[in-house]
Amino acid sequence: MEAHAVNPWVAVAYLIAGVCFILALRGLSSPATSRSGNRYGMIGMTIAVLTTLLTHVPVLGPPDPDLLVEIWVFDKVTIVEILAAIAIGAIIGLTTARRIAMTAMPQLVAAFHSLVGLAAVLVGLAAWLNPGAFGILDDAGQIFLPSRIEMSLGIAIGAITFSGSVIAFLKLNGNMSGAPILLPARHVINFGVLAAIIGLIGAYVLSDAGGPGEGLLIVWITLAAFAVGFLLIIPIGGADMPVVVSMLNSYSGWAAAAMGFTLHNTAMIITGALVGSSGAILSYIMCKAMNRSFISVIAGGFGADAGGAGEGGAKEQRPWKRGSAEDAAFLMKEAENVIIIPGYGMAVAQAQHALREMTDLLKEHGVNVKFAIHPVAGRMPGHMNVLLAEASVPYDEVFELEDINSEFAQADVAFIIGANDVVNPAAKTDKSSPIYGMPVFDVDKAKTIFFIKRSMGGQGYAGVDNDVFYMDQTMMLLSDAKKMVEEINKSLTD
Ligand code: NDP
Repeated sequence: MEAHAVNPWVAVAYLIAGVCFILALRGLSSPATSRSGNRYGMIGMTIAVLTTLLTHVPVLGPPDPDLLVEIWVFDKVTIVEILAAIAIGAIIGLTTARRIAMTAMPQLVAAFHSLVGLAAVLVGLAAWLNPGAFGILDDAGQIFLPSRIEMSLGIAIGAITFSGSVIAFLKLNGNMSGAPILLPARHVINFGVLAAIIGLIGAYVLSDAGGPGEGLLIVWITLAAFAVGFLLIIPIGGADMPVVVSMLNSYSGWAAAAMGFTLHNTAMIITGALVGSSGAILSYIMCKAMNRSFISVIAGGFGADAGGAGEGGAKEQRPWKRGSAEDAAFLMKEAENVIIIPGYGMAVAQAQHALREMTDLLKEHGVNVKFAIHPVAGRMPGHMNVLLAEASVPYDEVFELEDINSEFAQADVAFIIGANDVVNPAAKTDKSSPIYGMPVFDVDKAKTIFFIKRSMGGQGYAGVDNDVFYMDQTMMLLSDAKKMVEEINKSLTD
């Protein structure tokens, strides 16, 4: 098999890009360093894209066949066309990033993953249709065996990522019910289709690459993989969707890595492997935070009995106390320690700026204020951290679940704003609850609890009632979160 020599400068440039991507991931692991992490990512991607362009742009002269691999499918492609495509993509990306509401971020991520999957499928199909242009033909004019493996795997993983991400997008965006759709014998069907894909890949890889039937095999692999992506995601309930999105993120990385091998592009292999492994690690961390096993998430069905994520149900009438902004302002002003627990409702109400103002006012009264962030608070990992950072809440006031949970026993006030599932004690006590086993904040240990939500009817994402509403020390502040905090701020300044 012919070896693909790579220009040493290209190799160095891709290596630098790879180091930037690793530094980006490291930076993104903490809110304090996330901006610099993003910058490293952008620098790495700029180096990778420019290097790829410079090594293959026809206007700069034909690539040296001894050093470079010609990748053009259509050798008449010009730099102007490439730049136009990049510009169109950049405009769409920039406009979307500026317009998107923070609460719609999970579905945006799912939509972007679908594009990565589709890109992998298209690159794979292009390589299969025009293998000569990809430098993957041997002397006998047949596609190299390893290239056949990479291509067919890349197409299959890409197609699963594409259709799975489209379903995840439709569920998260509310175009499709978040409740699991459970087909009879779904596990048998899924295993059957997966086994068929593996069989088809084996048949394609071992086939006479130019022989009859080969075309049909690639088409069948693509179609079966589209089907399996769809079948795998429809039974998964809304509450498990974040894990699924991060799992699809991982798939998109592996699909890109497979295509990196087909294109002999080291930067793509490194980036794909980084995305693939970081997505897998994130899925694992999220499963742990929800106390769900990865297998049970993938098997689906969670939330089917609870009536689906976010859907209410008939509830028994129990006594509860209503508080007011004045009550909250008065008690918090007098408090020594206040712990704020933000959740999805804070994001919906965009209450983070008013909340920052409230903490500033409380600090002026000598109150010690801390934020408690649950790993799955909101609708995406890091959702609360991003919003609080946007409102310039100092990072040293923001604490993870395991670092702050023991402090509720000393807290005068637990101030719950738009959170629900992450403070629900049923997760600790009720084995029949769909959130049983999920680690939650021990808010019940605080002397006083203020609970902001809009109505007693609205439930958390898992769709279950919350005993905290009815506790002796709880005062319900029923209002839009931003409106309520603004009223509290008014009372604090009066
Ligand atoms: P929940 O979804 O459990 O609860 C949100 C609460 O906010 C509800 O009680 C709702 O009640 C209230 N609310 C909604 N809008 C407003 C508003 N404008 N003003 C005031 N309150 C409002 O949120 P949590 O953050 O506690 O829990 C997250 C849940 O989402 C977990 O079950 C988690 O597993 C799941 N999940 C997490 C993801 C992640 O990656 N972080 C992604 C997807 C799901 P009301 O309607 O009465 O106002």
